[in-house]
Amino acid sequence: MGQQKIDWKTLSTVITISGVVHAIALVACGMIVFNNPQLMEQIFTEVTESKEITDEPIVEQSLDQPNEITETTPDDVVSPTASEMLFDKGPADLNINDLAPAQVQVEGNIPGLADIKFDNAASGRMSSAAKSALVKSMGGNSASEAAVAYGMKWLAKHQFPDGGWSYEHDAHSDCKGQCSQAGTIKGGCRTGATGMALLAFLGGGHTHQSGDYQKEVKNGVEFLLKNGRANGDTFDLCPQVVSNEKMYVQGLCTIALSELAALTKDNRVKLAATGAVNFIVKGQNPKSGGWRYQPYPASADPGDTSVVGWQIMALKSAKNAKLPFPGGTFRGAEQYLNAAQVEGGSKYVYDLNQKAPTPTMTAAALLCRMYLGWDRKNKGLQEGVKYLASVKPAPNNMYYNYYATQVMHHWGGDEWTNWNAIMRDQLIRTQKTAKDGHMLGSWDLADPHGAVGGRLYMSCLCIMTLEVYYRHLPIYRKEGLKVEF
Ligand SMILES: [Zn+2]
Repeated sequence: MGQQKIDWKTLSTVITISGVVHAIALVACGMIVFNNPQLMEQIFTEVTESKEITDEPIVEQSLDQPNEITETTPDDVVSPTASEMLFDKGPADLNINDLAPAQVQVEGNIPGLADIKFDNAASGRMSSAAKSALVKSMGGNSASEAAVAYGMKWLAKHQFPDGGWSYEHDAHSDCKGQCSQAGTIKGGCRTGATGMALLAFLGGGHTHQSGDYQKEVKNGVEFLLKNGRANGDTFDLCPQVVSNEKMYVQGLCTIALSELAALTKDNRVKLAATGAVNFIVKGQNPKSGGWRYQPYPASADPGDTSVVGWQIMALKSAKNAKLPFPGGTFRGAEQYLNAAQVEGGSKYVYDLNQKAPTPTMTAAALLCRMYLGWDRKNKGLQEGVKYLASVKPAPNNMYYNYYATQVMHHWGGDEWTNWNAIMRDQLIRTQKTAKDGHMLGSWDLADPHGAVGGRLYMSCLCIMTLEVYYRHLPIYRKEGLKVEF
């Protein structure tokens, strides 16, 4: 407990120093500006070939199946009947211990998955059988799945008629302020909010071509395509900036578009995702390898670990979707992380002027390290995981929880089992229930970034954290899942 106390102090420092920054992850203002030459034209015209913008040096693509993306089946982890029943009652009535956390093996087959073929690391969420098996074997349960389902219902109810979402969710004509804690970002950061909401749906395997939210996802994606700005071979997802949000929004929207490109065969989405990736590649600081609020060269700042984390996640999703980008981009990012690390790579600072590491930046950077190739034998990674395990899930910092949960999930073993038992039940317990009226299914934790991003930001992160069991297949498993990030 003593250790925990000290770490929370550190965490509040993080919050003070980088809180603004993270909160900004949410900020973005979509302005509908169409300055676009070729790319936009291609996005709006049904195209069948995307090679025009794919002739840059390509990161080796070694995923299992090159082009075939499996036909998807609607997810039925929570059966319609059960789901309806749950919605009558409200999440608080559920027995959250109906499935004991599984003891997760580090390597080897995941029970129930032996015969399931995976096309890419994200496809575990797309087949109902795989999803059920993953929920069960990774430590989820019917209550965690019900919480995800409720969360999505809340999101769907707060989608605006133009297809987008807003951190100012209370401006929705059905909500009219019934749900408190709207974000304070001016203009509601429409593209950023839409990207986050889409990620929550996609994390559960719902695309515009399959699943229970096809209309919502379709309209959300159309909103991004309309409100981004194509320029040459780049696609800018935050053309109008109100604060420090630009590259955050670019990163998270790129993840959404790339995931959708990986999960469907939609060429417009693939083109938009490719342009979004190009924007990130060109905005990388060529000296430090990092990214900052504004893309290089508008900002010559070496970057910060928070923004860098989102770009690496975006590039990882792009790679998974077989989108092209220069291999040097990852090497540059690695160089930035080397400069931001302390204590042998087990902890990370917010930016290169800082000396003191923080749990949040450590969680974000360690996840990047995992994606960039550090394995379980790496001492820095081992110590870093130990550190996060000692900090434990935060009661109210979902930015930290979101990243750290993914690190622990990939790591597996007792660290994951212990982490998950706390994290999962905390999220189930704090979700708004039927007695909270319109807020049912959302979260409003006293998060340091909660004010800026508000209930929508908080709810998206909570949903995505509960989707951890199937959103990505764990990295450190050899057999059965030939998956590479
Ligand atoms: Zn509402």
